[in-house]
Amino acid sequence: MPTPTAPPLPVYLDYAATTPVDERVARVMQRYLTVDQLFANPASRSHMLGWQAEQAVEQARRQVADTIGADPREIVWTSGATEADNLALTGFMRANRERGMHLVTSIIEHKAVVDTAKALESEGFEVTWLTPGRDGRISPAQLESALRDDTTLVSLMAVNNELGTVNDLKALADTAHAFGAAFHTDAAQAVGRIALDVAAQQVDLMSLSAHKAYGPKGVGALYVKRHPDIRVEALIHGGGHERGMRSGTLPTHQIAGMGEAFAMMGEHSGPDQARIAELSARFLAGLDEVGGIHVNSPAEHGVPNIVNVAFEGVDSEALLMALRDLAVSTGSACNSASVEPSYVLLGVGTPRELAHASLRFSFGRFTTDHDIDHALDLIHHAVSGLRAPAAAH
Ligand SMILES: *Cc1c(COP(=O)(O)O)cnc(C)c1O
Repeated sequence: MPTPTAPPLPVYLDYAATTPVDERVARVMQRYLTVDQLFANPASRSHMLGWQAEQAVEQARRQVADTIGADPREIVWTSGATEADNLALTGFMRANRERGMHLVTSIIEHKAVVDTAKALESEGFEVTWLTPGRDGRISPAQLESALRDDTTLVSLMAVNNELGTVNDLKALADTAHAFGAAFHTDAAQAVGRIALDVAAQQVDLMSLSAHKAYGPKGVGALYVKRHPDIRVEALIHGGGHERGMRSGTLPTHQIAGMGEAFAMMGEHSGPDQARIAELSARFLAGLDEVGGIHVNSPAEHGVPNIVNVAFEGVDSEALLMALRDLAVSTGSACNSASVEPSYVLLGVGTPRELAHASLRFSFGRFTTDHDIDHALDLIHHAVSGLRAPAAAH
């Protein structure tokens, strides 16, 4: 069939995978790169240019700390949330070997936590893997039943990246503390989406990423509570940067970008999330008309910017192919033999058939009403096409 008009630009509904860098953030980053700018090594103590770069790093450290209610001295720069998760789990477990070898986490954590916990198992640590309910939440009672005298760390995410489920950080942290265990949370998807306050929520370690919050890829941070019991052993050695916890020359432009992005989240998150909640409701209402929809995201305790849905009788890989003008994701993993549906969906007990029929839509600061309506048109068309009996083609 000939195309009557030029193909439309793809609609980006994959903000949970990454967000674009905000223009204001990009402008800040450009101040720290070229010869006429503040490009110097922030660790250079022997000249003014080094001090100025250091000042930029310290301002960003304050901006990131302010976003989560921390002290700037509690922020350790990393290459992203993946590295922060590695440092939190491996660094903490190794530093606290004498106290205990037991870690508690869940089967629907991000791979950065799941794979790190598996690596710890092969190092001789013991891991208890909690299975959440259908809504993706871990209850304090469930956590309590897994805690032991030798449990040193609990790691449970703030907002699940596939479902949007929000955990009750304060209740989980209190439960962990009652058994003398420290509490880590991966908050990569949480910044600007839910209220974060490490003091009020009693969090000891928190992983952060810039690129899920309109900052650049390749930079993140680990919040490490200033307390004698909260120590992490470095994984990257050389130079003793970041108070010995993470060596390596600090990327001033990346860090300044993350600081600005997080500061902007402070200003924007309220209006952004209110608008996104409306977009999300509009999207779900539109999907209702498509019919045969199962919403995998929780009805309660979820962020509005992530909507995970199953399309009955439709294969998600085929749907993705039919939705070339839409940027969305499946959460499935390809191996040589087959396509495995999302371990998160399977982990919360989604029937295999529905897990194979699911897509994650995620919205953000630049998503418009028009994007939603256009996406709904495309989905409607693609799903009807795939559901139609073969004879109709
Ligand atoms: C994106 C993401 C990560 C990984 O963050 P990077 O900065 O890309 O390493 C970790 N955890 C969660 C929940 C995420 O969404």
